[in-house]
Amino acid sequence: MINVQKIKPTRTCAKSYSDYRSFRGYLKGDFNNRCGYCDDPDLHCGQEISYHIDHFKPKSKFPKLETNYDNLVYSCPYCNRAKSDKWKEKNGFIDPCSREYDENLQRNDKGEIQSTTERGKYIVQNLQLYLRRHKLIWALAILGKKKLQLDESLDAMPTNDPNELKILRKFKEIQEKIDAYTAGGLGE
Ligand SMILES: [Zn+2]
Repeated sequence: MINVQKIKPTRTCAKSYSDYRSFRGYLKGDFNNRCGYCDDPDLHCGQEISYHIDHFKPKSKFPKLETNYDNLVYSCPYCNRAKSDKWKEKNGFIDPCSREYDENLQRNDKGEIQSTTERGKYIVQNLQLYLRRHKLIWALAILGKKKLQLDESLDAMPTNDPNELKILRKFKEIQEKIDAYTAGGLGE
């Protein structure tokens, strides 16, 4: 099991704005272009323009925190919509910038986000972290890295056999097509 987040997000912005949307660029940077909850890169949901800003403590229940940077989470539309304005004081959601998040939620070797604690299970259910897209997006990044390594090995492989070369060219052609489809992200 590994942490859900590849890089732990940290809130660094000390500015204040009257409109919470003005923090968008800072949130994108502080959350490493990823959803705070599921760690999906924003590339798969229209990047910064389409990504959501979640109010960790919902603004409907905590209106004073609407423009408080420490209450904002860069979030994919899936997590934000699932969370909506749900809130419970005890054993509810956990700020993804806290270490407590990692203590309650982990990712297995298939990329699935899971939990062994009751609180973690509540979060998985209420953020719908079980959605297939989260493990697919995670797996896509791992496979992309492995593919790059394989490409390098194939380039270095000496062969003059015309049949081998034909298969190799076909393989690369298909790889390039897959790359072209996934380059712009999976979308919503
Ligand atoms: Zn998310």
